[in-house]
Amino acid sequence: MSNEYVVRVLETVKKRAPGEAEFHQAVSEVLESLVPVIEKNKDFEDAGILERIVEPERQIIFRVPWIDDKGKVQVNRGIRVQYNSALGPYKGGIRFHPSVNASIIKFLGFEQIFKNSLTGLMMGGGKGGSDFDPKGRSDNEVMRFCQSFMTELYRHIDADTDVPAGDIGVGAREIGYMFGQYKRIKNIFHGVLTGKGLLYGGSLARKEATGFGTVYFCEEMLKDKKTSFEGKKAVISGSGNVAIYAAQKAMSLGAKVIAMSDSGGYVYDAEGINLDVVKKLKEIERKRISEYVKEVKSAKYTEGCAGIWTIACDVALPCATQNELDGKSARSLVKNGCIAVAEGANMPSTPEAVKVFLDAKIAYGPGKAANAGGVSVSGLEMSQNSQRLAWTFDEVDSKLHQIMINIHNAAKNAAIEYNTPGNLVNGANIAGFIKVAKAMQSQGVI
Ligand code: NDP
Repeated sequence: MSNEYVVRVLETVKKRAPGEAEFHQAVSEVLESLVPVIEKNKDFEDAGILERIVEPERQIIFRVPWIDDKGKVQVNRGIRVQYNSALGPYKGGIRFHPSVNASIIKFLGFEQIFKNSLTGLMMGGGKGGSDFDPKGRSDNEVMRFCQSFMTELYRHIDADTDVPAGDIGVGAREIGYMFGQYKRIKNIFHGVLTGKGLLYGGSLARKEATGFGTVYFCEEMLKDKKTSFEGKKAVISGSGNVAIYAAQKAMSLGAKVIAMSDSGGYVYDAEGINLDVVKKLKEIERKRISEYVKEVKSAKYTEGCAGIWTIACDVALPCATQNELDGKSARSLVKNGCIAVAEGANMPSTPEAVKVFLDAKIAYGPGKAANAGGVSVSGLEMSQNSQRLAWTFDEVDSKLHQIMINIHNAAKNAAIEYNTPGNLVNGANIAGFIKVAKAMQSQGVI
């Protein structure tokens, strides 16, 4: 990296947040992409844009005490990072997973700033979560935890201040419990969370949005390669919310999804994955993907999830978690003829893997662009809540589709303008950044 200002800001980030590896990784990637923008717009340095954009506006860390089914007191840690509000209220998901820490929430919150900017909707960036693990917990335990979590968080959020949504470990059940507690404490019914149930203010197509959006984005990348999903073999990691609906949309466009996974391992089915079975296991029964082979005899289960990338495919959609696809996996994908990778998850490819994809000149859509469909429909859920209206599935889906086309075009055009055609990492970072930077400049030093 050549720019002195960028190097200085990155050093400060590392000094201020020692040991926060995922956070450093995300900031480094974005700042490296921004070097040509910073060199072209010296006034961004004068306004201290980079120093300010890397520092969250506010971070809240709190105790979440709750009582388990055996009557024992449990304590988890809750975090909300309100990163940047230049473009609108803070907006970003809540993650419940044992790996959650400040580094992970800060990397996600930082990425969210640029992702939300790319959507074209009025949303700032934020993220939150807890090291609580919902796996193996009863509904009552999850409810007590969510109520305790919201009993602290409620004082920091509001429909016009900060609007959280779901993420890993937080789906309709958890959002429902948190919404109920917020309403009870504040005595107000408004759209303070998105991803709500359809009966009380949720949006049609929100559940599908991230997965569908990733496939819409990938479709645009494939069009640029003069091809489509028709007849393609796809490998999709994860079997959660994003993975399931990415699979559904890819199949509807003519692809055959041959493998899916969870944190335990992956299933391979040359005949094509039976998504009804995956939905039943994951959405209803909350079981492991290993159970799939008991119901579908043509499938094979392999322990350990990284091996999924050794399966030959045309399109890879990483939809599980950060850094799940390393350099070795990327080389294996490229060697086996993969032509497109679109990230449903946030930062699933390591920096080495990203380099492999870019060097091989395969189509590569980074998460902050390719998975922006989820937050886009969250933005549309906020609009519907403000209007007290509910749009049809097709209305929301067609808006989502157009937003994903726009994001792809914005990233593609910024990459061309800054002399790295085809590099959607640079394109997405640059297009997302410029809007936020200009809004920050207009609003003064705050
Ligand atoms: P879910 O909790 O619904 O599903 C997550 C899936 O990924 C599960 O199959 C899970 O397996 C697997 N997984 C989680 N952690 C790991 C791990 N450490 N190693 C391997 N596999 C893992 O979450 P979502 O589908 O909502 O989120 C998936 C990704 O998409 C995340 O990166 C999230 O940040 C991103 N994303 C989500 C959006 C949304 O709208 N939900 C929006 C934009 C991005 P297991 O069940 O075994 O843990």
